[in-house]
Amino acid sequence: MPKNEIQNLALRRALFFPSAEIYAEKIAGFFDFGPIGARIRRKIIEVWRKKLVEKENFHEIHGAQILPEKVFIASGHLANFNDPVIQCKKCHSIFRADQLIQETIKIVVPESISTNELDALIKKHKINCLKCNSNDFTETKQFNMMLALDIGATGKQKAFLRPETCQNIFLNFKRIYALEQKLPLGIAQAGSSFRNEIAPRNTLLRERELGQMEIEIFFNPKKINEIEENKWNEVKDYKLRMLLLKEGLTEKSCDELVKKKIVSGKLIAYYLARLQQLYEAFGIPVEKMRFRELEEEARAFYAKETFDFEVETDLGFIELVACNYRTDHDLKGHSKESSVDLSVIEDKEKFIPHVFELSAGIDRTFYVVLDNSFRKEKRGSEERIYLNLPITLSPFDAAVFPLVKKDGLKEKALEVFEFLSSYGFSLIFEENASIGRRYARIDEIGVKYAITIDYDTLKDETITLRERNSMQQKRIKIKELPEFLWLLLNEKKDF
Ligand SMILES: [Zn+2]
Repeated sequence: MPKNEIQNLALRRALFFPSAEIYAEKIAGFFDFGPIGARIRRKIIEVWRKKLVEKENFHEIHGAQILPEKVFIASGHLANFNDPVIQCKKCHSIFRADQLIQETIKIVVPESISTNELDALIKKHKINCLKCNSNDFTETKQFNMMLALDIGATGKQKAFLRPETCQNIFLNFKRIYALEQKLPLGIAQAGSSFRNEIAPRNTLLRERELGQMEIEIFFNPKKINEIEENKWNEVKDYKLRMLLLKEGLTEKSCDELVKKKIVSGKLIAYYLARLQQLYEAFGIPVEKMRFRELEEEARAFYAKETFDFEVETDLGFIELVACNYRTDHDLKGHSKESSVDLSVIEDKEKFIPHVFELSAGIDRTFYVVLDNSFRKEKRGSEERIYLNLPITLSPFDAAVFPLVKKDGLKEKALEVFEFLSSYGFSLIFEENASIGRRYARIDEIGVKYAITIDYDTLKDETITLRERNSMQQKRIKIKELPEFLWLLLNEKKDF
């Protein structure tokens, strides 16, 4: 859906909005999620946890957000996590040099380009300031994107807000490996990361505090082709949508990816498949997805092999997940800087495990899920808006409405609400406004099922169950409702 439709819906229903918005001094790039937005966001993490983390026996941790300086010397972020910045000398506007070039002359500027090369491009193409049209810029400087903090009363303990959640995972590797002493070992974490973006924009797509759900899979590089046979059989013929440097857009089965050496091994193909399946579970059609292979210059500084998982929206393709083969870069760096040996012994051989990473953006996924599920329909003269969320992302299992408040219907509806709550269903109760208006309100936030208590309920203990997309209604006995609803919610039955 168009960007302004997302923003209208987000603000109208308080799904997400600028943090500290009542102050003129609010800082760009920070967002709060309201009650419904927070629920949908939590469900996205919950589906990731169920369908990927728990299914693959990964270990999920919760790490601190602030880490000491040494961690980022080791990780390379202090030296390399930079954006090239220039300033207009006349109006003092600040720009990301690569973006300014990219937007003005529509070329792709590789991530690894030097500041001198950027300055040369700006001169050569006579690029002007976007604000005041001057071409008098400072030289390009590297600007480190980490947010620094001074900890403690002395202020001498230098620390940073983590720029990616995976650093906790590398730091905790030794302790978690010790629990089972077995590779491959997957460690996962969902949480906030912080980046001092020069130009935050497009709301949730470029934030300064961003949600990440990351998985790091540690493995023996000699066994990159060893994956349990039953697992491999589940994916080997499953097709991935790939945008390859040599071939362009193509569909390849996991088996082909390995045989044609498009990926370094079965382990990588396997997890790419699981990722695409996760986004299918988020309701994204496969035709809108692609794994974009990155050339060396475009990859992050730690990556040997990268596929950016992207989904097509009205804003073009949006990168949602970076799939990076990080080799032994991280554990090696932390081993050296901390003087703690992070190698393992397997088959009598000592080595530092390699890492394959699935680094997904929570808020970007949230945005794309909204974009993908938004529906506007004409019904006669009426216009109807609903979110076609998969049931697993619906903010509530069902809504409960009394047709009217009087004649004991409200009391009966509360009784049904209590009855279903006792089975663990999450419900929303609404009694105000006409029933049509209430249906419209829950359609708009993607609640899939509504239970209405009417005059017949008082006579025969049945309710009306309504489905969001089709607006079809069924009469169900109250006592049969828990099982019926459970089957629907677990996708074991169609409405
Ligand atoms: Zn200017």
